[in-house]
Amino acid sequence: MFDLQDLYQEVIIDHNRSPRNFGKLDDATQVAEGYNPLCGDKLNLYLKTEDDVITDVSFDGSGCAISVASASLMTDSVKGKTIEQAEQLFQDFHNLIMEEENPGEEQMQSLGKLAALAGVKQYPARVKCATLCWHTLRSAMQGDAAPAMTE
Ligand code: ZN
Repeated sequence: MFDLQDLYQEVIIDHNRSPRNFGKLDDATQVAEGYNPLCGDKLNLYLKTEDDVITDVSFDGSGCAISVASASLMTDSVKGKTIEQAEQLFQDFHNLIMEEENPGEEQMQSLGKLAALAGVKQYPARVKCATLCWHTLRSAMQGDAAPAMTE
C-alpha cells in the first residue's frame, strides 16, 4: 500500500510547495546537471565555493515532489559547510534511505530536517528521486573550479 500521508510528510510538502534556494546562481563557481530517467526528474545545481566552503548553493529544474523537496532540503543543509562535511552528510543521508536499520541518534541529529525523507526507503523506486540532487552536488563539487558557462 502506498500511503501518501506517510511519505509526504509536512516538511516534504512544505519544501515542495516553496522550495528553498530555487533559481539560478549567477556567480556560481561550479555547475552540474542531474537527470533521473526512472522518474524524469531533471535538475541543475549551482554551487559557489570559497576555500572548500560552500558559500552558496541553489538549484532549478523540474521533477516530482520528492526530488524537489530533497533538493530544497539538501541546499539548506549544505550551505556554509565544507566540501568534506557535505560529503559526510551525503553518506549519512544515503545510509538513512538505503539501510535496513534506522540510523543512530547522533546521525539523525546531524541530518536534521533531512530525516524527513527517511520514509522514502519504503519506496525503492523513489530513492533515486531523493538522491538525485546529492549525486548532482557531488559532481559539481568534483568538477572544475571554472564553470562551463558562457556569458
Ligand atoms: Zn522523481
